[in-house]
Amino acid sequence: MSRKYKITVACAALILLFSAFFFFYQKQQEKQTEPVSVTGFKLNTMIKITVYDKINTELLEHAMALCDTYESLFSRTLSTSEIYKLNHGTLPEKNGFFEVSPETAELVRKGLYYAELSEGAFDLSLAPVSSLWDFTSEEKVIPEPDALKNALPLVDYKNITVEGNAIHFEKEGMGLDLGAIAKGYIADKIKEFLVSKGVKSGIINLGGNVLCIGSQPDGTPFKIGIQKPFSDRGETSITINVSDKSVVSSGIYERYFKKDGILYHHILNPKTGMPYANDLVSVTILSDQSVDGDALSTSCFALGAEKGMALVESLENTEAVFITENGEFLYSSGFPVSDK
Ligand code: AMP
Ligand code: MG
Repeated sequence: MSRKYKITVACAALILLFSAFFFFYQKQQEKQTEPVSVTGFKLNTMIKITVYDKINTELLEHAMALCDTYESLFSRTLSTSEIYKLNHGTLPEKNGFFEVSPETAELVRKGLYYAELSEGAFDLSLAPVSSLWDFTSEEKVIPEPDALKNALPLVDYKNITVEGNAIHFEKEGMGLDLGAIAKGYIADKIKEFLVSKGVKSGIINLGGNVLCIGSQPDGTPFKIGIQKPFSDRGETSITINVSDKSVVSSGIYERYFKKDGILYHHILNPKTGMPYANDLVSVTILSDQSVDGDALSTSCFALGAEKGMALVESLENTEAVFITENGEFLYSSGFPVSDK
């Protein structure tokens, strides 16, 4: 074999080797960008957690288990939860203060902040009233006027004190309902966990409460659909492009029942104990932290279009779209225009 021939064969072998290496490398990359998801029914809703870049089902299962951990703290209805025990006076007590976990104390502080910001339209002390309603059963229960009359004086966030990890209620019979804020908080905690494990691309969806981790693996933003009111889950009205943001909606179509032609939904006026009656069907908040988006979507719905939009405009890094009963879309001034 001539020297020239040997060199040619060696070069061809090298090229082949490189091509094979490149082919397998590309295949591996493709595999890495295939998303993995876990789904389940938790927190009384459908949960889906997806990661695009770190294929590790154990990680996702741990993320899912965090839902149970937090549900065992924040649930108003689970008889073993911390909030249930707090509401029923069965937590350890010292001088009228009930000892709670640091997480519950942190979330209650957040709730108090938004109660103040919304001037009580959002009120986390709603439990005595919200426990009279049931939007999930077939029975369509409208609370008796007397029951509401007795419960209403117990609802006022100003009668809650938090000191360290201890909570005091000014009146006996008071209780907390963290339903308007807990999912956002839990989504933030799941994101914190996944990011700490190296995830750079993912979506946490807690029953429509959506939190993105980074953007899509190719660097383009995620496309998040905003639920079309009164349509099947998944049917969207508009789609927005978001990276690393939270998208949370509150609406009358989420939990409601109709009785004698009247629609009763789950966002309640703490002053009357009845569902808020304004011309809104939903409010969607775009924010960095999901706990803020969750609190604000409920708060802005409660405040109505005018005051709610004014509140959004006063906040940094916060945008909103309100959908009215007659199908109008009201956008905040910095809402990503190209996505409308
Ligand atoms: P969301 O879907 O985040 O708007 O939360 C609605 C849930 O928050 C309800 O199911 C109640 O548990 C609770 N809630 C209802 N009305 C209010 C209110 N005015 N302030 C605070 N929480 C509320
Ligand atoms: Mg909310």
